[in-house]
Amino acid sequence: MDFKLEKVKLNIDTNSSKHEINHEYKQKIKELFGQFCSEIKNYLKKYIGDNVDTKPVDDLQEDYNNFFEDPNYKLKFEYVKKYTFKKDLKNNYSKAELEKNDFKILREDIDESLCSKEDKVKFIIVEILLNIFQELKDYIQINSSLTPKQFYNYNYFIDSQPRCCFCGQLLESSIKEDKDNKNKKEEYLHADIEHIIPKDQFPQFTLHPENWAPCCKECNMGEKRTAFFKDGTTQEKIDKYKSAIKALGLEYNKLHPLKLWNNYKITYNNSLKIEINNNLSEEAKEFLNFYGIEHRIETMTSRCYDILFNIIQHSNIRSPESLERFLENMASSNWHEINDGYSLNNSPQIWQEFIESILYDECKLMALWDEVKSMNMSIF
Ligand SMILES: [Zn+2]
Repeated sequence: MDFKLEKVKLNIDTNSSKHEINHEYKQKIKELFGQFCSEIKNYLKKYIGDNVDTKPVDDLQEDYNNFFEDPNYKLKFEYVKKYTFKKDLKNNYSKAELEKNDFKILREDIDESLCSKEDKVKFIIVEILLNIFQELKDYIQINSSLTPKQFYNYNYFIDSQPRCCFCGQLLESSIKEDKDNKNKKEEYLHADIEHIIPKDQFPQFTLHPENWAPCCKECNMGEKRTAFFKDGTTQEKIDKYKSAIKALGLEYNKLHPLKLWNNYKITYNNSLKIEINNNLSEEAKEFLNFYGIEHRIETMTSRCYDILFNIIQHSNIRSPESLERFLENMASSNWHEINDGYSLNNSPQIWQEFIESILYDECKLMALWDEVKSMNMSIF
C-alpha cells in the first residue's frame, strides 16, 4: 500500500454560527490526525517490517487527543531532537528510503552520531508528521474560498473583537472572492497563528487547533524573550505552562484577546511604566516575559505621538487654544484606534495619560503648538 495524502474536503456549512464552524473544524482536524497516524503506521510497517514498534505513533495520537481535555493526563511521547542521527538512519534504513514526493523529507545533512533503533523510528515519525503539518494546508479543503488558517482565524472571535491575542491590536480584514463563484465573497482576517506551545519542541501539537492563537505578524515574528519551555521533561513543561495560564486568568484552550493585559499595571508619566502584577506566581511572570508583552506595548506607545500628529494633520487647528480644546476632546476619544487600528484600548489609560501628559504640561503643549505651526506653514 502506498502512502498518499488524499485531499480532504471539509463540508462545513459556512452559514452556520462561528461557534459551530470552529467546533466542526476542530473535530475534523482531530479525525484527520487519527487518519494520518494510522497511515503512518502502515507506512512504517511496509518499509521497516511488520515487527516495527509503532507505539510512538499511538502515544502521539493519545497525546493529541488528550492534551487539552484531561488535566491529569501524562504525556507519553517524548519528542526526539532532530538532526542527531541522520547518518545512521541512512546507512541502516536504506529499505526505509522515504519517498521524497510523499513527505519531502530532507536527508542531506546527515549527522555522525548514532542512536538506538527506537529513536530512529521516532525520528522517522516526527519527520513525517512535521512534513505533513507543513503541507496540510494543501490537503484540506473547506467549503469556503479561504485557506484553513484564514478560516480558523476568522471564526476564532466568537465573543470578542478580532484582536491579536497577545498585543491586542485590532486585526484588519479583507474580502476574498471565490475564483469559481464570483458572487461568493468571504471576509478573512490578516492574522498569523501563534502556537502557544512551541511547535519546534512539541510537533504533536502543531495541528491542534486548541494550541492556536490568532495574532498579528509582529507578535508572531517577535523573538521570544526567555526560554519558558527550555528546561525539564516534556510533561514538566506542559504542567508549567498550564499552571501559568491558570494563574494569569486565562483558559488554556482559548486565549482571549486582552485578558492577558489584566495582569499588567500600566502608567504613563513622562515615560511609560509597565509592571507585572506583583502577586503573580513566578511561572506566570515568566510566561508573560516569554511573549515579551511589555516590549510590545512600548512599541505601541511610541506610536502614540505619531498617531496624534497624524490626526492633528487632518484637523484645522489655528491657535494654541484650539489645540488645547482639541486635546481635551482627544483624551476621551478612541480616534487613535480608528486612525491607526492600534489598540491602545488594551489599557485606555495609555492613550488618555499620554494626551494628558501634554495637555497639563505647558512646555510640552507649546512645543506641540510649534510643531503644528510649522506643519501648517508647510501646508499653506
Ligand atoms: Zn500582536
